[in-house]
Amino acid sequence: MTLSLDHIRLTHPHLYQAFSLLPDCELHLHRIGELDQYWERLKQPLRQVIMPGDTLPKDIVISGEYDLIYAGGTLSLLHAAVMAGKYGRKVMIFDRQTPAKSTRDWNISRNELLNLADIGLFTEREIDAVIVRRYKTGWVEFYKPDGSQKRLSMENVLDCAVDADMLLGLAKEKVVAASGSTLLAGTSFTKCYQFDDHIVVQVADCKGQPFWYKAKVLVDVMGILSPIAMQLNEGLPQTHVCPTVGTIASGFENIDFDTGEILVSTGPADTSAGKGRQLIWEGFPAKEKQYITYLFFYDEADSPNDKSLLSLFETYFRTLPEYKKPGTDFVIHRPVYGIIPAYCHDGFNRTREIADDHIILFGDAASLGSPLTFCGFGSMVRNLHHLTADLDRALSENNLSKRHLEKINAYEPNVASMANLMKYMCFNAATDEPNFVNDLMNEVMIVLDDLPPHYRQAMFRDEMKIEELAMVMLRLAWRYPNVLTVTWDKLGVQGSLGFFKNIVGWAFSSVR
Ligand SMILES: Cc1cc2nc3c(=O)[nH]c(=O)nc-3n(C[C@H](O)[C@H](O)[C@H](O)COP(=O)(O)OP(=O)(O)OC[C@H]3O[C@@H](n4cnc5c(N)ncnc54)[C@H](O)[C@@H]3O)c2cc1C
Repeated sequence: MTLSLDHIRLTHPHLYQAFSLLPDCELHLHRIGELDQYWERLKQPLRQVIMPGDTLPKDIVISGEYDLIYAGGTLSLLHAAVMAGKYGRKVMIFDRQTPAKSTRDWNISRNELLNLADIGLFTEREIDAVIVRRYKTGWVEFYKPDGSQKRLSMENVLDCAVDADMLLGLAKEKVVAASGSTLLAGTSFTKCYQFDDHIVVQVADCKGQPFWYKAKVLVDVMGILSPIAMQLNEGLPQTHVCPTVGTIASGFENIDFDTGEILVSTGPADTSAGKGRQLIWEGFPAKEKQYITYLFFYDEADSPNDKSLLSLFETYFRTLPEYKKPGTDFVIHRPVYGIIPAYCHDGFNRTREIADDHIILFGDAASLGSPLTFCGFGSMVRNLHHLTADLDRALSENNLSKRHLEKINAYEPNVASMANLMKYMCFNAATDEPNFVNDLMNEVMIVLDDLPPHYRQAMFRDEMKIEELAMVMLRLAWRYPNVLTVTWDKLGVQGSLGFFKNIVGWAFSSVR
């Protein structure tokens, strides 16, 4: 069912009121509805989209032939621009919406962004042009009813606001400039057919008309909705999720445009329904007088909570004034939203399936980033160099089987271990006091505040070393011995063992 304003008028009055002022609200409602299908898909029988080659209908016509076909047009642009521009590969990118247009904006530090210059994708000048605002500092703070919360300040963390569409637009120009490469809008992935030496990808245009294209490798970058990830991971593509909604707006009262509010909670957990949820805000200055606010919570993918973006948007608009007060000239420029994926690996190394013969998954479809600090874009930026160079080598050597392709991934043992910490932030009304997540996180902030600034920067930039995490955890256990019981409640036997295996894997990996 396509969502319209009329559908939400009575059920979601705050969202209705805010969205009715947006010129393209129906488009956003459609995309929100599309993302919210994720929750139903988790319950439905598995759809087979990776098919054996001999089931490809005999009478089809191949409309084009490429080295790489990218299904999904967001982070794919960065990868494809390198493959086409630097390695001369013939690429095709298709998206069921418009390639290079995102439903979110990104924060990152400038140093991290400079990776894109190091690999020759952008010049430093181009990078600086897409940074629409830099902040002097940022902070993290968790609610305490008596006002005793620790505000943890940090520098050089998520302190650049990037215009995502501008960045993707630059990458798109580089793809289009490469001879033989193509971008298709309004084109949906339907199925793919695996052969020994290639893959055929079946897509449908806006009218449902099927087309077939041939490639050496299909790169699945369809994000959290990827049906390929769903099939390869037997219907459980994520263990945890972080539903996130927000706006880019202007006209709030008392905004500090030099400071990013990286994580902020303003109250105890919301226990009104399901298992309960600890809502967290973020606030980032953007270009000119614009300001981005996000509301999100961490949860298990299969929890009984209502995790729909639609209802989170209703909560966002209802409670926004408790976080930032809209002034008389308040205007929403654009909503931002998505479901941030997370996967806890039950093993010493990566356990999630991220490849098959002639198929490779990147970005949120691969779900190897950490949701702790929103860093799916950051993960791609950090790993782009080897994700492109290794795939080019695999193409040259014709090593395109699952066994070879699955080695090309953004798995980072430190990120995998840190992802376990997200479980402590998933509120559970059955075991937790309403202010549990805030109390625990407040202790973590006090521990980090006592350590040199490098610790907090490493934690919030996914760069933590094993000895640094050990130091933080030991100090936390000393200050807050309750964390040991909590670990048992939150992680259980299997989760605690999984965390332990991740740490052992990290200890023995080259990334320490
Ligand atoms: C609100 C929000 C804020 C964020 N902020 C940050 C941040 O500050 N820093 C950071 O590092 N990360 C951030 N992230 C995470 C980051 O945005 C994601 O990791 C990143 O967008 C993932 O890109 P992707 O290309 O893998 O997937 P997506 O961005 O989800 O793109 C997938 C694309 O595939 C298309 N698609 C889906 N299904 C099909 C199909 N069947 N056929 C064809 N096309 C299809 C979709 O239309 C979409 O364009 C944020 C996420 C959200 C939700």
